[in-house]
Amino acid sequence: MLEVLTVSLYLLLIACFAGIALAYADSRWQARDAQLVDQINSILPQTQCAQCDYPGCRPYAQAIANGEADINQCPPGGEDGIRQLAMLLDVQPKPLDTAHGEHKPPLLAVINEAQCIGCKLCIQACPVDAIVGAPKRMHTIIAAECTGCELCLPPCPVDCIDLVPADNAQPAITADYLKLSNAAVRQLEGRAA
Ligand code: SF4
Ligand code: SF4
Ligand code: SF4
Repeated sequence: MLEVLTVSLYLLLIACFAGIALAYADSRWQARDAQLVDQINSILPQTQCAQCDYPGCRPYAQAIANGEADINQCPPGGEDGIRQLAMLLDVQPKPLDTAHGEHKPPLLAVINEAQCIGCKLCIQACPVDAIVGAPKRMHTIIAAECTGCELCLPPCPVDCIDLVPADNAQPAITADYLKLSNAAVRQLEGRAA
């Protein structure tokens, strides 16, 4: 009887240690995974245009980290972005998959305010809350928040939104232009949560 109890105790201890080891390994793996997603996301241009077939840059970063998406699906990031992703992940770079779109210079949306009917459809489409306006009132775009993602164009019923080269529209825009302000990223990730 004593022997049976001793063996049971040993088995219980082994099971406890194995459980603790597995939980520790899992938490380490999750931390490494989150760190990799952060690193991938920091390379992506944060345009939030969904051309990669994911609803934003972070979901695409997560899909790359999971091995579910390729590194060449982001047209705004272009070849430079692909090269950086390839270096990070230690894989060979590859050409942009143009099935997701062509790489373009930074753009900025501008509303023709005289034609705007204030329907709010563009506000609902904008992933970074770069458009302000009230119902049946003229809407306008906060240039510093607009990523040029083009998502507000299709819903506009009077076709009064144009895309213009970001440099012409906003001389202060620099290479960091496509990196959203922290506030915009918080808004977007808050919506996704
Ligand atoms: S910029 Fe657009 S295509 Fe590139 S990762 Fe972000 S959402 Fe996807
Ligand atoms: S204003 Fe239009 S182009 Fe600019 S971020 Fe919003 S949806 Fe995209
Ligand atoms: S979708 Fe077009 S018409 Fe409607 S509020 Fe936006 S800019 Fe104005």
